[in-house]
Amino acid sequence: MATLSKWQEAWDRSMKARWTHRLIPNIRVWIERRHGELNYHLTQLLTRHGFFKHHSRRYDYNQSAQCPVCPSSIENAEHVFYHCPRFSEERERLHFLLHEVMTPENTTRLMLASEPNWLAIASFPYCKHPKQLLKESMQISIWNRSRFCNETLMILT
Ligand SMILES: [Zn+2]
Repeated sequence: MATLSKWQEAWDRSMKARWTHRLIPNIRVWIERRHGELNYHLTQLLTRHGFFKHHSRRYDYNQSAQCPVCPSSIENAEHVFYHCPRFSEERERLHFLLHEVMTPENTTRLMLASEPNWLAIASFPYCKHPKQLLKESMQISIWNRSRFCNETLMILT
């Protein structure tokens, strides 16, 4: 599909949304996936937008972007998902479920490998019940499969 490869080229070339690119380097694999609904927490991980302090600081300059337990760290999605010791127990449980240590580079591969993996990552670090996740993903339709294109095009343009 010519459009998809052009889109992939633009995705690789763009200077924007590099975090999302690091997590989702291959557009085709992502949009052709057979499972996986996006919920609020996943959207935050993928876009780095949301209630993490690093982002909300833009709107409230009195609020520090520092992690409350790691004075030298900015509290963004990367910190919360991959590094913060606040969630080390949950992270260990996640790695046990995945049989692998999750890094930004293997996150989407692990998510796409199976539905249980997807749910385990989608519920991290809040350990939500899958039913609750399902409810959320129905309520929040920002990034479902078809709209991923629009969202990404918006980032790119
Ligand atoms: Zn921290």
